[in-house]
Amino acid sequence: MSLGEFELIETYFRQESGGAGVALGIGDDCALLNVPAGQQLAVSMDTLVGDVHFPKNADPELIAERALRVNLSDLAAMGAEPLWFTLGLTLPKADPQWVKAFSQGLFRVAREYSVALVGGDTTRGNLSMTLQVHGAVKPGASLLRGNASPGDQIYVTGALGDGAAALAVIKQELGVGASAFNYLMDRYYRPQPQVETGRLLVGLAGAAIDISDGLIADLGHICEQSVVGASIHLEKIPLSEPVAQLVSFEQGLDWALSGGDDYQLCFTVSPEQVERLESLIDSGKIEAYPIGEITRGKGVACWYKGDRVVPSNNGFQHFNPAEADTGA
Ligand code: ADP
Ligand code: MG
Repeated sequence: MSLGEFELIETYFRQESGGAGVALGIGDDCALLNVPAGQQLAVSMDTLVGDVHFPKNADPELIAERALRVNLSDLAAMGAEPLWFTLGLTLPKADPQWVKAFSQGLFRVAREYSVALVGGDTTRGNLSMTLQVHGAVKPGASLLRGNASPGDQIYVTGALGDGAAALAVIKQELGVGASAFNYLMDRYYRPQPQVETGRLLVGLAGAAIDISDGLIADLGHICEQSVVGASIHLEKIPLSEPVAQLVSFEQGLDWALSGGDDYQLCFTVSPEQVERLESLIDSGKIEAYPIGEITRGKGVACWYKGDRVVPSNNGFQHFNPAEADTGA
């Protein structure tokens, strides 16, 4: 890295933001980190490429917020406590103003979730970033995709479809008023990783996944890995007020089922644990909505008020649309 870039890192990326157990942070060849005694390290990485995963000309503060929030969502889906992250940043040029704004957004989220930036790499090229997040979870306590069983209830933690609606607005396929615009941009750039809920679900939920590619695709991963099927009841899928008002119910559902970018959790709860979960929901500690049940079948089957229905398409598949299979 050139001296200019080193100064950028010293100035903008060496900041306090929490995260226990940092023995040595940014500045040496490696960071040195103390994993809490008796805990496993949960590690996850996401890459966001300019004009593929976000518009290149978007506000750098928002790009950074989204990048870290999306990564933290993976820790939430395991029930892990966020501790540290690293950042691989590729920039077309070392523009201090851009980096300053980017770091402001990044550390706003880092402080909110008490995660420390402990290292990274900075290179020149087309705008992209790779973040790796590290969290801690008790051995055997993680919310694995393979832990669903027939008879389990399926829940989601909040409205689905906002991410796809926001993308339609960004692509100028959907015109909206100021308040819906602000709501949707906030949901797109500042998704709320369900870290607290994920941790409360440890010992309570069976399987969990964060919804990044649409409910059908992501619940489908739970089904594949648990070797079960799922029945979901479309009239129970929570849609936000703005989406319900902006478009038809069918369009809202299509976004919820196949759109992606929502970063809510989808999780399963055994019949024995449902009462405990419902009491956490009633007391306001967890927000979650029952949408269906795990079955002995295969794939995700959709029902609408008692009738079987087949959705128009599948969740966004990054590489191989031809392999999409709803199991319906
Ligand atoms: P090396 O040549 O050993 O890879 P670098 O010069 O790339 O080291 O980085 C120097 C220090 O700055 C290291 O501690 C590294 O982790 C940190 N660093 C580099 N880029 C970033 C970044 N984008 N975010 C956070 N830390 C970074
Ligand atoms: Mg390096």
